[in-house]
Amino acid sequence: MRVLVTGGAGFLGSHLCDRLLKEGHTVIAMDNLITGDIANIAHIRNEKFLFIKHDVTDYIYVDGALDAILHFASPASPVDYLELPIQTLKVGSLGTHKALGLAKSKNARFLLASTSEVYGDPLIHPQKEDYWGNVNPVGPRGVYDEAKRFAEALTMAYHRYHGVDTRIVRIFNTYGPRMRINDGRVVPTFIAQALENEPLTVFGDGSQTRSFCYVDDLIEGIYRLLMSDHHDPVNIGNPKEMTILDFARIISRLIGKPENIKFKPLPVDDPKVRQPDITKAKKLLGWEPNVGLEEGLKKTIDYFIHK
Ligand code: UDP
Repeated sequence: MRVLVTGGAGFLGSHLCDRLLKEGHTVIAMDNLITGDIANIAHIRNEKFLFIKHDVTDYIYVDGALDAILHFASPASPVDYLELPIQTLKVGSLGTHKALGLAKSKNARFLLASTSEVYGDPLIHPQKEDYWGNVNPVGPRGVYDEAKRFAEALTMAYHRYHGVDTRIVRIFNTYGPRMRINDGRVVPTFIAQALENEPLTVFGDGSQTRSFCYVDDLIEGIYRLLMSDHHDPVNIGNPKEMTILDFARIISRLIGKPENIKFKPLPVDDPKVRQPDITKAKKLLGWEPNVGLEEGLKKTIDYFIHK
């Protein structure tokens, strides 16, 4: 296949490029480098790989045939949404529109990177794909949540009205090498703080929960979804749930530092619980995560130590 990955220099986008190239596909990565980093793809030495610096909220031009478009361009950290609220809204709405229009014109398969944020602060736990969510449209996270909800609606409209061959993956918290150390998300933040002997900043009382998936597991699930023929949203994530306070203790232990925690105010609309129900992915894709938390975190810590 000849594949376009938007957000191809980002954390997930760059891992996707690696995987697609490994499978023998030709890959075009597109990124405006606002939150992506050329360093994430600098290791790629492959004549089947091309990088184009472009903001996908503007008209996207790609020469020649395309068999698939994976739309991964977007800021993805709550700290980034606060700094880039308009860009976040634009890439989820205008960017998705441009990417879908390109898929239609090239007769290409389209895969949307959606998110567990479509469930907002969920009232149903764990979250199944048929739950419609509890989102505050005007809160600080609304710029991301509503953009992704709009992106899902637009994707289904292109599928139903134009017959575009679409997929939607709802990505839950994912971690691994190539996250930005200062992107504000909990995994790089805690690792950086522990490595620097600083207190780990737990927001609220730390009783909110998350479920963390190692990047290789996530990419495997996304690749299987791309190769499937399923059009409705599918959750991909690791169902092993823990409190953020417990997570801080795990990071301290793995880095070999005494427990040193500083409590800070809980951000507005921070979801209290989050855990994917992955029954659908198991059944449809034969997929489930198999990298344990300690194994995945050790690889991630190693990446940040040597970066
Ligand atoms: N969090 C924290 N300390 C930090 C950063 C995040 O306690 O320095 C908490 C945050 O309040 C949330 C969880 O960790 O409950 C996960 O936050 P993240 O920004 O990684 O992503 P989210 O899952 O909220 O989108």
